Amino acid sequence: MGKLFNKSKKDVSTGYFFVNTGAIKNEELGKHNSIRIGGKADYFVEPKTIKELVKIIKFCKQNKISYYILGNGTKVVFSDNGFRGVVICTKKLNELTKRKNTVCAMCGVNLFSLNRFLIKNSLSGLEFSYGIPGTMGGAIFMNAGAYGGDIGSFVQKLQVFDGKKIRIIKGKDLTFSYRKSVVSEKSYIVLRAWLKLKNGNKHQIEAKCQEYFSKRKISQPLETFNFGSTFKKTNGIIAGKIIDNLGLKGVKINGAQISTVHGNFIINKNNATMKDVKDLIDFIKNKVYENYGVWLEEEVIFVGDKK
Ligand SMILES: Cc1cc2nc3c(=O)[nH]c(=O)nc-3n(C[C@H](O)[C@H](O)[C@H](O)COP(=O)(O)OP(=O)(O)OC[C@H]3O[C@@H](n4cnc5c(N)ncnc54)[C@H](O)[C@@H]3O)c2cc1C
Repeated sequence: MGKLFNKSKKDVSTGYFFVNTGAIKNEELGKHNSIRIGGKADYFVEPKTIKELVKIIKFCKQNKISYYILGNGTKVVFSDNGFRGVVICTKKLNELTKRKNTVCAMCGVNLFSLNRFLIKNSLSGLEFSYGIPGTMGGAIFMNAGAYGGDIGSFVQKLQVFDGKKIRIIKGKDLTFSYRKSVVSEKSYIVLRAWLKLKNGNKHQIEAKCQEYFSKRKISQPLETFNFGSTFKKTNGIIAGKIIDNLGLKGVKINGAQISTVHGNFIINKNNATMKDVKDLIDFIKNKVYENYGVWLEEEVIFVGDKK
């Protein structure tokens, strides 16, 4: 049975707590991110209710156990050494409801499912996000955006856990900027989000979603393991364009490669490690700095040991 660190009585009871939540011990994290990189987590758990999610976080805090909140893992690279503690994945928290033109989504709702729900209910606004492969929680944390739109512009209210209690964030406290949000700034955990949309025409909404998705299919290496954009737009510089201008597409360090399709995408070509990805990022940053005098800022998130 599950023991966290195989030592004290406290560790044994900790192990029992996680086993009772259905947690998996020594789970390979590479199975849970889109770049397919990472060692093992001591525990990996997918709570089935918001109450359970909060209970697990409170338990971790009380027992000083490290935890990491994971959505669909489409922006994160885990350390090759794994994660000492508990990775809490929200994907089973996927209820969606609506009242008039406001939709309430739990943090684990996938943006594909959300968009299909919006199409079915003739609600317009989020078409730009069709094809972003993340969850509601991850999209709010990052203020995910594309084609001139961002998720934050539609959020009316958030239910978050602030580490101590569940709170509602709305009005002037609901701040979003480029790839940042009140959630990332204050280390909140998103539980539910309410999004306000516009009534529209079902066929037009669907056609717009497909139009955006077609653009992605042409410009992004969707059939590869990757984490979307590697770098943010920095000082107005579009990373993909300058990486392409510098002739860096296709450059490889061990198993990690700059996509030949999109310069801002790094792909896991052949058993890449976190170190390979970091080395490739450093290589790109140095080249861009030498040529443009700008240090690109990463959008990708590294989790665990910095090795
Ligand atoms: C092919 C591809 C295309 C992409 N295109 C785009 C794009 O066009 N635009 C864009 O912005 N992004 C894009 N992305 C990146 C990614 O899909 C988004 O950033 C997405 O919002 C991340 O969601 P996630 O659930 O996968 O988050 P994860 O990768 O699981 O986590 C990302 C961060 O969010 C935090 N987090 C997750 N859930 C919660 C929660 N409930 N509460 C608090 N914090 C939480 C995590 O701790 C982590 O810090 C793309 C990725 C891929 C692979």
